[in-house]
Parts: sequence; C-alpha cells; structure tokens
Amino acid sequence: MPARINTPDPARMATSLVEWFSQHGRDYPWRRTRDPYAILVSEVMLQQTQIATVLGRGYYARWLEQFPDFQTLASAGEEAVLKAWEGLGYYRRARNLHCLAKSVLEQHGGVFPQAHAAILALPGIGPYTAGAVASFAFGQAQPIVDGNIARVLARIHNDATPVDSTAGTKRLWERAKALVDATADPRSLNSALMELGQTHCTPTKPACELCPVRDQCRATKPESLPIKQARQEITAVTERVIFMRTSQGVLLEQETGKRRTGLWKLPALPSAHEDKPPPVLLKTQYGITRYKVTLWVHEPHDSQVPWPGTHRFITFDELESTPMPTPYRHALRQLLQRGEFRLDA
Ligand code: SF4
Repeated sequence: MPARINTPDPARMATSLVEWFSQHGRDYPWRRTRDPYAILVSEVMLQQTQIATVLGRGYYARWLEQFPDFQTLASAGEEAVLKAWEGLGYYRRARNLHCLAKSVLEQHGGVFPQAHAAILALPGIGPYTAGAVASFAFGQAQPIVDGNIARVLARIHNDATPVDSTAGTKRLWERAKALVDATADPRSLNSALMELGQTHCTPTKPACELCPVRDQCRATKPESLPIKQARQEITAVTERVIFMRTSQGVLLEQETGKRRTGLWKLPALPSAHEDKPPPVLLKTQYGITRYKVTLWVHEPHDSQVPWPGTHRFITFDELESTPMPTPYRHALRQLLQRGEFRLDA
C-alpha cells in the first residue's frame, strides 16, 4: 500500500516548527537579510562547505565585501572570482555564480526575478536553490529539500524509501511542499527544518527529547533512517605533475577541463616521460568526488621545452593571487618552503 503523503498533519507540524524556530533558531548573517544576492551566495557556498568554514574562515564576509551585488560580480574578471573562491573547492559553484550574475544583469536588468520559474531558469540554479531564494528572500511557499531536511522528513514519516531514489525524492518534495503550504511563514518553516536537521535530528544519536515535533514523529528507529541507495566506490588514481622554477617564476598550466576551467595547476608530466618518470620531489594525496588521487610531483625533464600555450611562468609575486585548486596550492607551498627551492633574494 503506498505511503500516505500528508501524514502526520502538516498544519500542526508547521506550527510547531515555526514556533520552535522563532525561539531557538540560530542567528546567521543570511537569516538577517532579504537580499536575494546575499542569500544566494550563502546557499551556493553552503552547498558543499560547512557553515564553520564559510563563516569562521571569513569566506562569506570577504565575498560580500569584494562582490556586494550582482552588478559588481558580473563585471569582475573570472580570475578574481576564482581567487576569492579559493579554498572552498568545487569551483563550478563560483563560475555558476559569476555566470548567473551576468544573466541577472543581461536578462533582468540587474534585478533578481521573483517568479519561481524565472529563478529556476537562471544558470546553475536547481530546485533547492530556487526554493531557498524564493522562500528566504521573497517569503514564497516554495519547498526546499537538502540532506538535513531529507533526514528529518524520512524520520517523521518513518519512510524507508531510499531518499536518493526517484520515488523517494518525489515523496520528500511533496512532503516539504505540504508543510510550506500549511504555514503563513514559509521562510521560517524552511529554516526550521534545516535547523532541526542540524541540531537535534542529527545522523547519529538524534536528540528526540528536545525535538519540537516529537509527539508527531513516527520514527521507531530514527538512527536507521534515512535509507540511501548503494554508494559508488572510491577509485584510486595516480596523477603525475612537475615542479619547475626558474628566475621567471614557477611553470603552471591553465586547466581546460570542465571542473576547473581557468584555474592554474602544476603542469602534468608529459606522457612521453610516464614510463620512466624523473625523480620525485613530493608525494601527497587528495580526494575529489569519488576519486582518491595520489599526486606525484616530479623534477622537470630537460627535454620538456617548449611548453604549450596553456603553460606560463607565474612570477613569485603573482603566485599567491593566482587561482589554484587547494591540492596544488598545498603542494606548491611545501615545495617552495624547502630551502633548495627558495627563490634567491
Ligand atoms: S523526534 Fe527524533 S527522529 Fe523525529 S524528527 Fe524529532 S529528532 Fe528527528
């Protein structure tokens, strides 16, 4: 028998959540504003980065200081945008924000659209971000479902349907929609669901005794929910690059792949040298999506010149301001900190 979508009672639950949030909701900068730009930036930054990093390490404040509105961001150069994002990873988010700012300027005269369909049509905006901006900035009854909310809703309904399956996703959005439709304050309702998932309805050891909807929650074994489909396995891969410094600076290669276009990295070891690679200067590891990468940094080989057009010597003064994925930045710093590679004064 199919699960009932709207049980427990959405109106009662929405009231409990909104009341609880008005008393216990944490104070974040993006909760003090109705500016769609500031809200959008927070949502995009928080997609794959912890609040502690975004706030504690000053990324959010610095970004808004450097790019306070859509106009400023749209007119900025890509290198400056990527540089401001450096350390947050998943650089596609920065590029999408940049592209989105240009669209807001070109297609909407610099004013962020309020219609949900128009928000969804902007580049890089999916249903979650569209719902977040529509509800947080404009108070619209648009639902949001992220990992925290999926966990809360799966538990409240004691639903073991995998939350990342088509059926599970559909059901979550329907349940989230039923809740925002049942309140006059969708902004607080959505914030409350997120907050509940972050504070009490946590992945392990949920604090049900403190939960504002404990009398309505149907979870019998909350720790066992949500169910997810089998995870992709982590694949180990090897990456070989070179470190070459001269009086002109350090040789870097500009990325052209989808994920990191425009960023600079240590140049790949030419394939001709892969069978018999030059001596190793550094070995380190990093993770990206489902890959565990072992990064080998080699000495350059004499015959590796001339370099292709994607390669350039970056002066030592320019290095820190050059946008670069974190793994290469860390490797470069380690190499430069070693005495034998220090630039002569
Ligand atoms: S009662 Fe427990 S499991 Fe249910 S929503 Fe609250 S914290 Fe989560």
